[in-house]
Amino acid sequence: MATILLNRDNFYYNLNQLALKAGSREKLAVVLKDNAYGHGLEQMGKLAYSYGIQEAVVATNNEAIKIKEYFKNILVLGDTPIVDNRLSYAISSVSQLKYIEPNVKLELKVDTGMHRNGIMPSSLQEALNIIKRRKLNLYGVMTHFRSADELTGEYYWQKKEFEEIKRVVKEAGFSKTRFHSHNSAGLLRAKSFDEDIARVGIAIYGYNPLPKVFDFIELRPVLSLWAKRVSTRELKSGSRVGYGGDFIAPRDMLISTYNIGYGDGWFRGDSKNPYYIEDRFPILGRVSMDFLSLEGNRDEICMMQDAKRVSEHFKTIPYEVVTSLMPHIPRIII
Ligand SMILES: *Cc1c(COP(=O)(O)O)cnc(C)c1O
Repeated sequence: MATILLNRDNFYYNLNQLALKAGSREKLAVVLKDNAYGHGLEQMGKLAYSYGIQEAVVATNNEAIKIKEYFKNILVLGDTPIVDNRLSYAISSVSQLKYIEPNVKLELKVDTGMHRNGIMPSSLQEALNIIKRRKLNLYGVMTHFRSADELTGEYYWQKKEFEEIKRVVKEAGFSKTRFHSHNSAGLLRAKSFDEDIARVGIAIYGYNPLPKVFDFIELRPVLSLWAKRVSTRELKSGSRVGYGGDFIAPRDMLISTYNIGYGDGWFRGDSKNPYYIEDRFPILGRVSMDFLSLEGNRDEICMMQDAKRVSEHFKTIPYEVVTSLMPHIPRIII
């Protein structure tokens, strides 16, 4: 089995960079859904807490319960609301407001253009009326940007839509309600930030989703992925390695097998276009469920230090590379 190392200094460095953008560390809500983007929910929750983060965002109640002690409030994006003063819930439909338990801390999600979740702005008044009539606890109002990481003006029109939503909510008398819309890309490109919290995911893990043309803010990858040698053998020129014998030794060579495979969440990939690990040795032949082969006999190898480079090779995004890493891999804080 492989091992994941989590670099605490890099994590704190990223949080510093983002706190500077947001105005304070109290404004950072760290997004820890999907096992903290594959980094390990409990480890990252604890590290965020020790840095002084007070807000988190997760997808499910199960995730929230595991890290509840570390945060002042945890926003749950997609699960059945529970009444708990440390949990708030994203609510995306008017009909849900009609039967929700009145003491739930609810955060109304408004669709300002992504068209995935949230009530339409045209239903806002109706939603606010129900909230008032039923004396619901409107803890927050939120929206999500669909393309803050793209070099277009869409970020600005969604932002403008949301300003209008805020105006209507405040005018309806909700003075304590908090507002938030920015994800990592939104916060990193914001010239001034005046909302209550920013929901930062990919950036805390060390990946800047903005194209290079924006003011570049350096972030440092938190996670690295390692594997250990399980066996070594000498091959004669012409010998074939792994399933299908896809790799054919071009000369006599020494190869070793390492304990990582697609069962750990690594990519099976295409053996004709091999991935080069961090020391620039290519994977030889097909990746198996739990093993892969490399030239040489190093005891330990680094598969990845930068999910961006990996994502470019496998034609995906850093988000997918890190969230694919299976929960069974040990995660060690260094
Ligand atoms: C996942 C998610 C985020 C974080 O997005 P990043 O691009 O990783 O910063 C923020 N808000 C919502 C609603 C999300 O689902």
